[in-house]
Amino acid sequence: MKLEDEGVEDHPVHRVWTELGDDDADVRWTVYCPARERTLELQVCEDCPHLEAVTAGESGPGVVRCHRLSPVPAPATLSDDSLGPLLGGTRVSEVMSPDVYCAHEELRAEELVDIFSTRQVSGLPVLDEDGTLVGVVSRTDLLHPPSEEGEAPPLHPERAGASAGELMNRAPVVIEEGAPMSRAAALMASSRVHRLIVLASDGRVVGILTALDLARWVARRAGHAV
Ligand code: SF4
Repeated sequence: MKLEDEGVEDHPVHRVWTELGDDDADVRWTVYCPARERTLELQVCEDCPHLEAVTAGESGPGVVRCHRLSPVPAPATLSDDSLGPLLGGTRVSEVMSPDVYCAHEELRAEELVDIFSTRQVSGLPVLDEDGTLVGVVSRTDLLHPPSEEGEAPPLHPERAGASAGELMNRAPVVIEEGAPMSRAAALMASSRVHRLIVLASDGRVVGILTALDLARWVARRAGHAV
């Protein structure tokens, strides 16, 4: 959030990108609203009386500029924030990667491998026809170890032709965007995962939090320029 003038703030617009196959994709534009303390679809801002403007970014809407009629209260002290001063009252929505790539459940393994490569991601939330999270598919689940060092790992022959819905883990580890970072760290450790899918209060995917995001954030809090 960037304070421009008194009472006027800029909030970055993010995207949830769902690959549908055949070079088709569905893009949802979202923004974190501090007044409502949750991520909203951009259309909500367009009907909001606090909106000043939506400015363009490099590849779509970039920033929501708005004024708020009432101040946002400071975050409450979180009782389960056992790491106290380090994690403070920081919430998952402040640290997560808000631009997230997802896969439609009918995408084939070959298309998933392309997405992992072109988008440089190691896991994709899987969505059904209604955009509901139904699982997560990981790069390591699809690929065969390369026969020679330096080679790109090929698709595992047993996975060829299978759909994301068939390949996915049906029990993705999720966390709410308003949860404290201490809970995210504990969930990653106890579930032995390095990626949490972040959901808004309506259950829709709004971000992803990786172990790398967590490590970077801790390092920055400690004063390291990473
Ligand atoms: S325009 Fe309204 S809904 Fe959108 S971020 Fe600002 S206060 Fe929230």
